[in-house]
Amino acid sequence: MLMVHKYGGSSLADAKRLMLAASRVAQQVRLGHRLVAVVSAQGDTTDALLENAAQVSRRPSKRELDAYLSAGEQMSAALMVMALEAQGIPAVSLAGWQAGLTTDSVHGDARVLGLRGSRIRYELDRGRTVVVAGFQGVDAAGDITTLGRGGSDTTAVALAAFLGAERCMIYTDVDGIYDRDPRKFPEAKRYERIGYDEMLALARGGAQVLHDRCVELAKRYQVPVQVLSSFRPGPGTLVTEI
Ligand code: ADP
Ligand code: ASP
Ligand code: MG
Repeated sequence: MLMVHKYGGSSLADAKRLMLAASRVAQQVRLGHRLVAVVSAQGDTTDALLENAAQVSRRPSKRELDAYLSAGEQMSAALMVMALEAQGIPAVSLAGWQAGLTTDSVHGDARVLGLRGSRIRYELDRGRTVVVAGFQGVDAAGDITTLGRGGSDTTAVALAAFLGAERCMIYTDVDGIYDRDPRKFPEAKRYERIGYDEMLALARGGAQVLHDRCVELAKRYQVPVQVLSSFRPGPGTLVTEI
């Protein structure tokens, strides 16, 4: 079975956490699953990169900002592959353009259009686990685009949809989707299951646990999305049609 996992920034914040995420991937591969892992930039890397850019220009060009920001996810992907290889799992990292994730040309807020080429399938067929840098794609001109803050979720659901994965598992720092932000409201209640439309309303209302475009894509392609904690075992929340 083909699985897509996504690990967010806090799940990869340091070497220990990144190796924990790699162990989870390795465990599934050893069970015989084909796996595509999508990774975000480590910790607050994207914010740090934005600050660096602001130091050299008050209005950096959007094209260059995308080229710069996309490096955060590319570093994570390569590091994750190093961790997997250290655990004996053959793997390969791919930037968005190498994976063939095509988008429109709206730098900083690009929409996913499709998956071009067969690089991911070729690598999977060779028995390699594929680690894709989230948050980025390539436009018709061949330029790097980014998908908007939180956009790695969208990369993961897009790949699950275009590759025909049965489910997209989003590993994050909370153990599922709640009726409100559980960090701010300790009395918040976790959903066992939530419908695409209700989730879309939460995401559009600012619940950053899932990028709103990832929910739109999941609904359009009917991809079940499971949100789970990277750190604690548990059933998480399943986002489906209900
Ligand atoms: P990642 O780095 O894994 O992408 P994010 O920080 O983007 O993680 O999203 C997870 C965060 O979303 C949680 O730490 C939580 O504070 C916040 N959040 C906001 N609203 C909700 C909600 N309704 N349910 C769960 N988490 C929520
Ligand atoms: N690294 C990007 C961000 O901080 C994308 C993501 O985390 O999904 O917004
Ligand atoms: Mg996020």
